[in-house]
Amino acid sequence: MNRRQFLCAFAAAPIAAAADNKPNVILIVGDDLGYADLGAYGGKDIPTPYLDSIARNGVRFTDGYVSCPYCSPTRAGLMTGRYQTHFGHEFNPGPAEQAVENFGLPLTETAMPKRMKDLGYKTGMFGKWHLGYQPDYHPQRRGFDEYYGFLGGAHSYLDADADPANPIFRGTAKVPKVEYTTDQFAAEAAGFIDRNKDNSFFVYLPFNAVHTPLQSLPKYEARFDGKIADPKRKTFAAMLSAMDDGVGLILKTLEKHKLTNKTLLVFHSDNGGPTAANTSKNDPLRGFKAQVYEGGLRVPFMMQWPGKIPKGKTFSNPVIAIDLLPTFVAAAGGTPAADWKLNGVNLLPFVTGKDKAAPHSQLFWRFGQQWAMREGDWKLMSMGGPPTLFNLKADIGESKDLSNAEKGRTETMAAAWENWNKNNIPARWTPQRAGQKKKKKSA
Ligand code: CA
Repeated sequence: MNRRQFLCAFAAAPIAAAADNKPNVILIVGDDLGYADLGAYGGKDIPTPYLDSIARNGVRFTDGYVSCPYCSPTRAGLMTGRYQTHFGHEFNPGPAEQAVENFGLPLTETAMPKRMKDLGYKTGMFGKWHLGYQPDYHPQRRGFDEYYGFLGGAHSYLDADADPANPIFRGTAKVPKVEYTTDQFAAEAAGFIDRNKDNSFFVYLPFNAVHTPLQSLPKYEARFDGKIADPKRKTFAAMLSAMDDGVGLILKTLEKHKLTNKTLLVFHSDNGGPTAANTSKNDPLRGFKAQVYEGGLRVPFMMQWPGKIPKGKTFSNPVIAIDLLPTFVAAAGGTPAADWKLNGVNLLPFVTGKDKAAPHSQLFWRFGQQWAMREGDWKLMSMGGPPTLFNLKADIGESKDLSNAEKGRTETMAAAWENWNKNNIPARWTPQRAGQKKKKKSA
């Protein structure tokens, strides 16, 4: 080694040490899980010990939101840290065979795995993508080193090949057989952690549980024999219990490698429960999936990073899933650039109490004719008609419209929403319904 090489090696040492201190990041997303389905959120009939342990070992958000009450748009917001309506990702695409060809997270946008990869992370995804079917939109073209899952919006839990238009892939190779997707996605994620225990890794584990179809295995159903009479609810319970086991496997894998304290882990649901479809519960919230009532937008939302953020803390200021990208980037030592045009904020200073302010003074939503805005305890929203105003602190169930009693506030908030809406663009596609012909290209 000459003198210059020696100096370079010496100078590089502190940087290498800093890199070693990067936390791993794990993002686990449930599908169509309601606000009241977990024990940590008041659920009584379905034990969810592993999911509840995240709240016990970290922070439970009472007012954790997603940026849309529907599967694909909410994931577009999550993966970019931006309001997805700013880039036209306003709706689901419909089934694979009916989706417009340009459906997917627009290629103008940079996804979370790419941000993490740029910070030196190994990136793996295991589960439901729902952000594009065509090759350019594949998870491995958007920043994931490894991918195992399906590209569509829903899937059989038991049959890998149930829908030829929406197979399960490992990378780009079709997987012929799967025993139970929930078990498989968790096992694949755990295997990725095993292989990358000495690297900084980012795991995205979006389960299809507890989305329909209602399908489980006898070993999970048996846990509720004699306890839940309604057969539909019993299968839902088995599906949720299986997902809880899957989360348990991830937590145990971190323990096995002594990585628990070195890992920032988040769990949330992608939208509120579609109560009629899967028996999920959103109590005490009004409404459900596909609506901008709280029951569609407010979800179970928890975060742990032992030693770095508080244990057993309840955080009641509003947060939103688009905050996770800036949070993960900050945890990884990165700094978002202005041209990332993020709408989310880094939550770490807020959950640690370093910053006592609320992370957001205002939050906004648009989903077709529906729109909503939250400011402090107030929520202004519309299902397509004249807006209604609720005080969520006094009326969490959105039962008493105060828009007439609070005319000035209603007008001010409506004007703020209109101002935000100027940054939205027209939807790049509209949802395709069964029987409609596939469009060649959308506007
Ligand atoms: Ca969903």
